[in-house]
Amino acid sequence: MDIKSVMMAIACALVGGIAGWFVCPGQQLRAWEPPISHELLQSVKNVIPVVVIGSGPAGLTAGMYAARFGYKTLVVTGDKPGGALTETTWVENWSGIEKQLGPDIMQNLQAQAARFGVEFLYDVVAKVDFSKWPYALELEDGTTLHALTVIIASGSSPRKLGVPGENEYWGKGVTTCAVCDAPFHKGKDVVVIGGGDSAVEESLQLAPYARSVTLLVRGDTMRAAATMKKRLEAVDNISVIYSVEVQKIIGNDDEVTGVEILNKKTKEVFTKAVSGVFLAIGHDPNTKMLGGQVELDDHGYIVTLGRSQQTSVAGVFAAGDVQDPVYKQANASVGYGTNAAIDANSFLQHHGFNSEVLRNLEPQYFEAFLQDRIEVAKIENLSDLKELIENTQGLLVVDYYAPTCPSCMQMLPAVEAVAADLKDNVTFVKVDTSESMDIVKEYKVAKIPLLMVYSNGSLLARYNQAMNKHELTEFISSFIE
Ligand code: NDP
Repeated sequence: MDIKSVMMAIACALVGGIAGWFVCPGQQLRAWEPPISHELLQSVKNVIPVVVIGSGPAGLTAGMYAARFGYKTLVVTGDKPGGALTETTWVENWSGIEKQLGPDIMQNLQAQAARFGVEFLYDVVAKVDFSKWPYALELEDGTTLHALTVIIASGSSPRKLGVPGENEYWGKGVTTCAVCDAPFHKGKDVVVIGGGDSAVEESLQLAPYARSVTLLVRGDTMRAAATMKKRLEAVDNISVIYSVEVQKIIGNDDEVTGVEILNKKTKEVFTKAVSGVFLAIGHDPNTKMLGGQVELDDHGYIVTLGRSQQTSVAGVFAAGDVQDPVYKQANASVGYGTNAAIDANSFLQHHGFNSEVLRNLEPQYFEAFLQDRIEVAKIENLSDLKELIENTQGLLVVDYYAPTCPSCMQMLPAVEAVAADLKDNVTFVKVDTSESMDIVKEYKVAKIPLLMVYSNGSLLARYNQAMNKHELTEFISSFIE
């Protein structure tokens, strides 16, 4: 036994088991638990038994299981409903299905969860307060929800390079989503940065559109799976350059025109002319809204205790990429989501939340469990749209989308929710650009999602970025006098 182990053994014998400050051999680290009693709920409004933060495979599965256990369950979708899988194309390793489009998988999963009674709030959790129970979650619009249990399944966000030009040209050629932007690089040269499965996937998605795809790998080898590399080698217009680092992204103010690359072996710096820079350099877990109230590991992933999804706060569970630094697979996330809901059920049962207690609590449930959404009318003919623009009194918002555009489809529920909120002041319509080419040509729609805002026939704004409900409300409200 080394000296450290001896010290630990003595400390464990003296205080460790009582204080729970560190894990002793054979001892399970216990979560911190605030006072929990049914009395504490007496005067609390906006109560929800199970709140899931995030709507990827982990979140939707957790929601489905929790609802199936019989709990009123709310999934707060975040600003990318459906999560990362909605930004991919064909998935061939989703268990039980040979090959299916990522967005379709997520739509099916959401429909399945909804069939068990899961409610969806197309909003973002901005802050949490886990210092006392029931746990408080503040949405971006300022609403506070009170949860008996929380399942954090907020996923991870793509990493950025941190080089000059990256922020300046973000959305103007620099992106992390090939499936969204590949068609804008038809016949052009692009680079993909990274050496993992995502980088290969992005390259394969770009190859049918771009003239050439150059994969820039910082090391001597790629960490992508052998099967993925094989698929890469089979495509003629993809090439790989190893041991290189992008130092700068160059542009002409409007769009990317090239990248400055360092050859790490020769120290030579050269410029490559490209129209697109696709980043695939890994992800960071989304934990900002937790404000440090849940224990994270050195890389920012939520720590779960033992063989459970329990976080360092009792009744708060984590599932999926936000707590998984190793496997990061959609299939694995489904498992974590399942476990988290089972853990949440045990927690609620342990604290006596049987069906009778929950029925008594129903008058305090979150009123807006059913967020108002209205079906936005779809316009298919150019003449109908022209007439609408000319004759609509007050504000008219036209949402251009396509079923194959993930960010458009992710924004659609937010558009429907805002359309319901602002129905007295604003008319919303949508145009499917894949069906209405005459409209696309007439209004020069080159990139989607696109919102065009009119007031009494005059165009006030064209806006080309995806927005969440909060951003959309602020954007549209700024035109209401
Ligand atoms: P990974 O973490 O696997 O790979 C990130 C890559 O980016 C690595 O090659 C890394 O280089 C490189 N990188 C990191 N930082 C920089 C930087 N600053 N500059 C240049 N390169 C950098 O992330 P992925 O997103 O590719 O994959 C995440 C997980 O998702 C994996 O488990 C993967 O298997 C899975 N996945 C599976 C898919 C499938 O099965 N079809 C598709 C996509 C993802 P280095 O190797 O030198 O560290």
